[in-house]
Amino acid sequence: MLAVYAFCRRARALGAEFLFGSTVTGLEISRGAVSAVRTGDSVFPCGAFVNCAGSSARSIGAMAGLDLAVQPDMHEAGVTEPVKRFLGPMVVDMRRAPGSANYYFYQHDTGQVVFCITPDPPLLGESTAETSGFLLLAEAGRWFLGESVSGRRGEEMRMRAHRWLADQGVQNPARLAHMVAPGFRKNL
Ligand SMILES: Cc1cc2nc3c(=O)[nH]c(=O)nc-3n(C[C@H](O)[C@H](O)[C@H](O)COP(=O)(O)OP(=O)(O)OC[C@H]3O[C@@H](n4cnc5c(N)ncnc54)[C@H](O)[C@@H]3O)c2cc1C
Repeated sequence: MLAVYAFCRRARALGAEFLFGSTVTGLEISRGAVSAVRTGDSVFPCGAFVNCAGSSARSIGAMAGLDLAVQPDMHEAGVTEPVKRFLGPMVVDMRRAPGSANYYFYQHDTGQVVFCITPDPPLLGESTAETSGFLLLAEAGRWFLGESVSGRRGEEMRMRAHRWLADQGVQNPARLAHMVAPGFRKNL
C-alpha cells in the first residue's frame, strides 16, 4: 500500500493527473489504435492508451474489439476486527479439501486476522459477490457475539444472524452456529 502511495505521489510530482472514481465506459478507435477514452460524459483524446484494469482487462479490451485472454478466478477473503495478538507465523495450507484448493491466514501487525480461500472448483468471472464460504462462519460469530453483548444491540446482532441462517434454509440456527463456531459455546 505504501509503495502505491509513493508511486502516486511521484507520478503527480512528474505531472501525472489521477481521476479516481472515473469509470472507462468506451474507447474511440482511429487507424487501428485507441485515440480517445470515454468516461461517462467526458472524452480524453490520447496518443497512447494502457489497459491496466486488472481482472476487468478483458472488458476494457472488448471496447477496442479485442478478445484478451484474461480470465478472473475469484478467491474469497475476510478480515476480522483487530484482536489481541495470538498468531505468529502466516499459515498456508496447500492441501486440497472439499470446497478449497488452498487457503491461508495470518494476523496483521494491527491485530486483524486476514484469511483467504481459493475455491475448488474455481469460480471464474468478475463478480465480487460473496460465495458464502465464509459467510456462515461470520454469521455464526455474529450470533455468539450477540449473546455476549447485552441489551438491544446484542439482540439485533442475534436477530440478524438468525435471519441470515434461516434464509439459507437452516432449521435450527442456534445449533448450526454452535457447530461451526464451537469455541463460543453459550446458553445452548
Ligand atoms: C484479497 C487479495 C489478496 C491478495 N494478496 C496478494 C498477495 O499476497 N500477493 C500478491 O502478489 N498478490 C496478491 N493479490 C493479487 C494482487 O492484488 C493483484 O495481482 C494486483 O493488484 C493486480 O494489479 P493490477 O494493477 O494488474 O490490477 P488491479 O490492482 O486490480 O487494478 C486494476 C484497476 O483498474 C480499475 N478498473 C477496472 N475497470 C475499470 C474501468 N472500466 N474504468 C476505470 N478503472 C477501472 C480497478 O478499479 C482497479 O483500480 C491479492 C488480491 C486480493 C484481491
